[in-house]
Amino acid sequence: MAPRPPPLQPNRDSVTTIAEDGSRNFLRPADVSGPFTFWRRVSALFLIAVYIALPWIPINGAPAVFLDVASRRFHFFGFTLATEDLWFLFFGLTGLGFLLFFVTAVFGRLWCGWACPQTIFLEHVFRRVERLFEGPAAQQKALDRQDWNAEKVLRRGGKHLVFVLIAAVIAHIFLSYFISVDALFAWLGEGPGAHPRAFVFMLVMTVILYFNFSWFREQLCLIICPYGRLQSALIDDDSIIIGYDENRGEPRGKASDPGAGDCVACNRCVEVCPTGIDIRQGLQMECIGCANCIDACDAIMKKLKREPGLIRYDSLQGLAGRKRRILRPRLFLYLFLMLLGAGAMAYSATKIQPVSMTLSRMTGAPFFVDEDTVRNQLQIRLINKRSEPIALDIRAHATEENGIPLETSGYDQTLLLEPLAETRRPFVVRIPREAYAGSFQLTVHAEADDGALDVVRTIDFLGPDPRLLREDWEARQ
Ligand code: SF4
Ligand code: SF4
Repeated sequence: MAPRPPPLQPNRDSVTTIAEDGSRNFLRPADVSGPFTFWRRVSALFLIAVYIALPWIPINGAPAVFLDVASRRFHFFGFTLATEDLWFLFFGLTGLGFLLFFVTAVFGRLWCGWACPQTIFLEHVFRRVERLFEGPAAQQKALDRQDWNAEKVLRRGGKHLVFVLIAAVIAHIFLSYFISVDALFAWLGEGPGAHPRAFVFMLVMTVILYFNFSWFREQLCLIICPYGRLQSALIDDDSIIIGYDENRGEPRGKASDPGAGDCVACNRCVEVCPTGIDIRQGLQMECIGCANCIDACDAIMKKLKREPGLIRYDSLQGLAGRKRRILRPRLFLYLFLMLLGAGAMAYSATKIQPVSMTLSRMTGAPFFVDEDTVRNQLQIRLINKRSEPIALDIRAHATEENGIPLETSGYDQTLLLEPLAETRRPFVVRIPREAYAGSFQLTVHAEADDGALDVVRTIDFLGPDPRLLREDWEARQ
């Protein structure tokens, strides 16, 4: 095996994961334990449980989260949206974006360290499996250097096999958000040939997940994710971050050295860092706020019978020994924008009706002129977004010229829509030739028979030039 260049020491001018010759320096962070690690694990297990459970929990006749792309219906905790209602999510996503800004301005990268799926699956699932097969970081590094033999094949091969299986499970759960758990199990029974598109989707996702969690890892946070780069714009000196208390730690030296600070230069904080940085060099874009270095350093301080918190959650002001401002203009701005998004979403939600109706023109000519009538052939699409059946009366009238006598066909009785059902029907509107004086707006109502609901849509009724129609009519008399 060709000798590899020595790994770079973390510094502020280079990325630790790239060696001097440009090759990848594959990180092997050491294991760590402590209160933050414990609570992060609890939070990760809870979030993984939520991810697995959401497609299983039925609310209002549909899974709690079900993005039914095939039927163009999207279920969120008992609330069903049709494709044309999705604009409403824009406000929700905007509000969530500003919530993330707000949380970052207050607590730094809390999301990355505690709730991001990349960190959760990498740190709490894949690295745990890796340690199970290859042992702690020192053993993993020894295995890297070791020539291939039966033991290395078994350890590495076993690990990658389990990685592929976990990636496939995550991909299948993800797929169930789009097709439902029942369909997932049914499709699994039918085999890949019965649903090739879903199979390819699942396969591609498994490969991407396996590649990401087995090799790409922290590169996703360092190279691809834009959030880390936004950090410098979102936080200020009063935001809570993970930092090193330089006043207390410097100058570094042996524990027995009376002139030295509290940092004994043991390098434990660097060894446990999943992005390979040295937090003692200050706040860096690569820090994902995982708190591993806090637990690692606190354990050293405990051994030395010194106060914990040499590395801790604090603001840059606090680490410099100054008072931290809690209320700052940017917090109010982010809070205001977040509430604006949430308020707009809540208001829009009240405007979303439980029945969705769309009117469109059927393919072919835009209008037809018969012996006695001008005719428009429309299609009406109705979706019942509720989990109860609904009976609808469909009627049409001319918005601008109420005197126009309309004759409609396609609906001769009350229409019963089953729960969450969709129907498309032809809707033909005729008016007598002599009544046609130019195009006009047609209003169609879908009214619940109990009067509790009235969905209204409009469409233009089209016809020929009325003068030509009149001349033709007169010629025939
Ligand atoms: S773990 Fe603590 S004592 Fe050890 S090098 Fe890091 S900051 Fe210094
Ligand atoms: S510096 Fe500390 S908090 Fe930041 S990524 Fe490294 S170990 Fe995690």
